[in-house]
Amino acid sequence: MHSMHTRPIAVTLALALGAGAAAPAGAAAVAPFSFETAYGRLPKDVVPLDYSVAITPDAAARTLSGKETIHLDFRKAGSTIRFNSLNETLSDVRLDGKPVQSVVSSDEQQLTTLTLARAAPIGPHTLSFSYQGKIESGPRGLFAQPYVDPSGAKGMILSTKFESTDARRMFPCWDEPAFRATFELTATVPAEWAVISNMPVARRVVHAKTATTTFRRTPKMPTYLVEFTGGDMARITARSDGIELGVWAVRGQEQDGRVALANAQQILADYNDYFGFRYPLPKLDSIAVPGGFSGAMENWGAITYNDQLLLLTASSTIRNRQAVFSVQAHEMAHQWNGDLVTMGWWDDIWLNESFASWRAAKETDLRNPAWNWWEGEDEAKENAMSADARVTSHAIQQHVTDELQVTNAFDPSITYNKGQAVLRMLEAYLGPDVFRDGIRVFMRTHAYSNATSTDLWNALGKVSARDVGAIAAGWIEQPGFPLVSVTARCDAAGQRSITLAQQRFLLQGSDPAPSHWTVPLQIRSGAAGAPQALLLTAASQDAPAGRCGEPLSVNAGAIGYYRATYDPETLRQDAAAFGTLPHADRIALLDDEWALVQAGREPLTAFLALAALMGSDLDERCWNLITSALETVEHDLRGKPDHEAFEAYARSIVAPVSSALGWDARADETPGIQTLRRSVLADLGAWGDAPVIAEARKRFAAFVADRHAIAADDQAMVLGIVAQNADAAAFEQLHAVARSAANETELRRYYLALMQVREPALAAQAAQIALSPEIPPQANAARLRMVFRLEDRNPALAWTTLTGNVDALMLPQGRYAPLITAQYCPEIFWDAAPLDQVEGWVKAHVPAQMADNIARGMESARFKLARKAALSDAAALFLNDRHGAPAN
Ligand SMILES: [Zn+2]
Repeated sequence: MHSMHTRPIAVTLALALGAGAAAPAGAAAVAPFSFETAYGRLPKDVVPLDYSVAITPDAAARTLSGKETIHLDFRKAGSTIRFNSLNETLSDVRLDGKPVQSVVSSDEQQLTTLTLARAAPIGPHTLSFSYQGKIESGPRGLFAQPYVDPSGAKGMILSTKFESTDARRMFPCWDEPAFRATFELTATVPAEWAVISNMPVARRVVHAKTATTTFRRTPKMPTYLVEFTGGDMARITARSDGIELGVWAVRGQEQDGRVALANAQQILADYNDYFGFRYPLPKLDSIAVPGGFSGAMENWGAITYNDQLLLLTASSTIRNRQAVFSVQAHEMAHQWNGDLVTMGWWDDIWLNESFASWRAAKETDLRNPAWNWWEGEDEAKENAMSADARVTSHAIQQHVTDELQVTNAFDPSITYNKGQAVLRMLEAYLGPDVFRDGIRVFMRTHAYSNATSTDLWNALGKVSARDVGAIAAGWIEQPGFPLVSVTARCDAAGQRSITLAQQRFLLQGSDPAPSHWTVPLQIRSGAAGAPQALLLTAASQDAPAGRCGEPLSVNAGAIGYYRATYDPETLRQDAAAFGTLPHADRIALLDDEWALVQAGREPLTAFLALAALMGSDLDERCWNLITSALETVEHDLRGKPDHEAFEAYARSIVAPVSSALGWDARADETPGIQTLRRSVLADLGAWGDAPVIAEARKRFAAFVADRHAIAADDQAMVLGIVAQNADAAAFEQLHAVARSAANETELRRYYLALMQVREPALAAQAAQIALSPEIPPQANAARLRMVFRLEDRNPALAWTTLTGNVDALMLPQGRYAPLITAQYCPEIFWDAAPLDQVEGWVKAHVPAQMADNIARGMESARFKLARKAALSDAAALFLNDRHGAPAN
């Protein structure tokens, strides 16, 4: 699955989650995969080999009737058969044509147990039954998704979302990933509907008003990857490497999939080569689901996407185009890592998700060099490191004892972003060709089967002749990451040597159990030197490090998932050379310095001094980090006497960039430069820059008269500035713009801008709008994001809006609602209400199993409150000192 790749507020809405779970401590190293010993609740003595599943959904009644025939292998003689079911009633249950003695289904256990009149012998048997089931209203199992198309017409499609444990909601099955089998799906739906599944259509029979379609039998695969979509849909197609590629959308919108179709051709060719194993299905469809869920799901041969992550129109921005490419690259990587080779049990969900995230970033960077993709991914890494610098963080790999809790109890910033960063660090250490060769061995060895982390380390170890498992263990099996401290010395000849030491980095609190890592460092001495790899294995270790006086980085290229702190003289030398350092080394220095400030280990002035050295340099990621740090301090000073002075200071830091870039894009600019322009203007508008506010208002007036007056990419920035400074008349204009949105891309953009309004009475109106029926059903999930957006300027209002409407706001979030409530709500609403009140409310709204998530959310909330006190004091001191200094 994939989450939306956008800024932190969207990261919190990363709803396309995988799985993981809550064990209090890190897991022990796992064995290579074996079906016999793979964890699971279902017995291994009766296993499914092949399913024929025929469904007849009644979309209006939200019910489903089905017939199922399963070829079983009895590996032991026995008289019970146990499998998963949920909300299904089975009838006419027979083994080898004879009725079974009893059928007991428990929705609480999500299990059905059949008892046979006589024990069945070892060998093949055939189980058959009919059943009645449900069509869901939210994104799990087979679900109905209503929508309103751009012409205002109402429609509905059926689609599926099974990961992790919801295939059992559409058909009774062995719903654990180690039980691979082949599937032949048949569906009877209205004759005018298009139908899509994992495999191409084998045959179709038209009746009076319905048609029955049978799809070709799949390869051996886990249940959670089975897919079915039906509705008034149409597609466009192309071929790549002999595979038919399709993009499906609600009829009339399929042409908006042209970019996605071209992307898929490119990515498929690249992956066929990289994995050394050709994509094994005859076709690969990408399906744009209107609404439904917020991310995408890698069903084998039939990937489903929220349509906002697949279709592009004239209303789309560069960020939309980047999201489409990178999410496709993620889901298509899963066709190998996840689908062809599946984790043995949910403990190793990171094998699916970290790998697909890392591979997608590599592919996106390769095919879009102007996007500087890895620099942008540094933001995702920093988000993971913030989460992982909590005492309550958890290991990437954790034991899952109850798969029903799989989705609730994990943190996507760890499973996706930390895992991606750790794989990138390992790839850099082993070398990209060696790493790829190891992946090829892994694919060949485990194709059409399952694997554990240990299998991956063994494959990488085989080609690299290194003990990869020993290096990886500390990163995968324990929470957190190290702070590497660097102390330099010079000899008489000017040669530098360094002493490296490590301890766990925490934003607050202390390491409950002293941790240790094997750290693959990349050491660069001199601004232009090539980095040297060094494995830090001891608690303290010496190494040569170039010549004295040269700048020094022990995280060259910002590739490492660790922080570094340098002795004062080395830091002074790095600062002196700051303008000449490679971008990524500067990014690493800024990232670490800001983290050390937040942890109270460095003064705020040390970070601000580095920020001031940027001048008019135009590196987007460096500025992105600096402005978000300035935004944090500005936020923390609101309502205090120094707020205005700090806003003026913050404006002075970004003014050189704004002067260099102006308002209008030039043809030869990279997307990064354009994004930087918009982000700096947005900050200046938020920080009260009068000329910027006036220009935004002027441009908005032109836009009200002519919707082509502002480029799609600039609309969110201009409308946001207008909203923050809006009076009642401007608010009404913004609302009118939102109501007239031509499509969902515009709708989300305009309504989110409206939520940035500051004036309390207008904000109260905005809150009512976010809850109103003027938002169409396919955008229901966006309402929660609107409430989160309100929080920035009107926290108390946003809190009462959330708590007063929590059921309606969380319903579209499906099974991720408990995670959002338990963990993200405290992180977002930390300054909206007293924390004991927030904690009490959260506890009352999630199951008791979410205690670890609540602890993580509350630790972040308490940290932010403490940081606010520390940063506002530090900023006051800084401004006081500055007041006496000469003007710059
Ligand atoms: Zn994924």
